[in-house]
Amino acid sequence: MKKYLVAAGSNVDLGRWDTSDDGGLAEDEGRKILKTLRKQLEDYQELLYADHRHALLVVLQAMDTGGKDGTIRRVFEGVNPVGVKVASFKRPTDAELAHDYLWRVHPHTPGKGEITIFNRSHYEDVLVVRVKNLVEPNRWNRRYQQIADFERMLVEEGTTIRKFYLHISKDEQRQRLQERIDNPDKRWKFHAGDLEERQLWDDYQQAYADMLGRTSTEQAPWYVVPADRKWYRDLVVSTILVETLESLRLTYPQPDTDLSGLIVH
Ligand code: AMP
Ligand code: MG
Repeated sequence: MKKYLVAAGSNVDLGRWDTSDDGGLAEDEGRKILKTLRKQLEDYQELLYADHRHALLVVLQAMDTGGKDGTIRRVFEGVNPVGVKVASFKRPTDAELAHDYLWRVHPHTPGKGEITIFNRSHYEDVLVVRVKNLVEPNRWNRRYQQIADFERMLVEEGTTIRKFYLHISKDEQRQRLQERIDNPDKRWKFHAGDLEERQLWDDYQQAYADMLGRTSTEQAPWYVVPADRKWYRDLVVSTILVETLESLRLTYPQPDTDLSGLIVH
């Protein structure tokens, strides 16, 4: 999975990152592995909760139709819903706009024992905000460092952070938007604004590239996930999360008193 990791401070050219990579796996093979990974994730989530020393924050970003919702659904399918939260960040409200851009984000960071998935995130404040000129360039430009500082604080206080950019090709987006238009069951997901956003594809790709290079850190790394094939996207995200939870060396806490030999009547 190392090859999907964005090196800190690197100059990212997204055109060079394959969107349709399948890791050399056949789909049925991949799906088998995915099944095992889901079970592992389920077990690790329980252990994370029992251990109660670490929090896990998963950040998902993607272009429209990139598959954020699908990833959440498929990767966390088997996990106990009690231990996982999803926070979705939409266009800010008036109250949110009256505050700094991290104000609405911070209350949703995971507590000890919890996993929280950010479906979009504070990164919109250097993406859509930059592309649509919603604030002055010197303001969004300062935010890369502010975000890195915020995340470093979270990490130092016990949160593990993994960030995923789901990378689809422009043609894959065309097909997925068309599918939303043509399929009555998917039409609700389509907004006329999506076509305007698509016109800005290159600007968004540039904003994503800068964001990835400037905010991937050793402690809070970004991964560029090949996302044209949904099963492979899910496999990559699951593998990285399982490896991350494994690396935490989670353990069940010891009971306060010695329970051995105790009989319940
Ligand atoms: P969706 O995720 O498709 O429901 O759309 C959410 C919308 O909210 C997207 O068009 C985002 O670009 C937009 N959005 C999210 N965060 C921000 C932000 N900080 N400023 C402006 N728009 C945002
Ligand atoms: Mg949308």
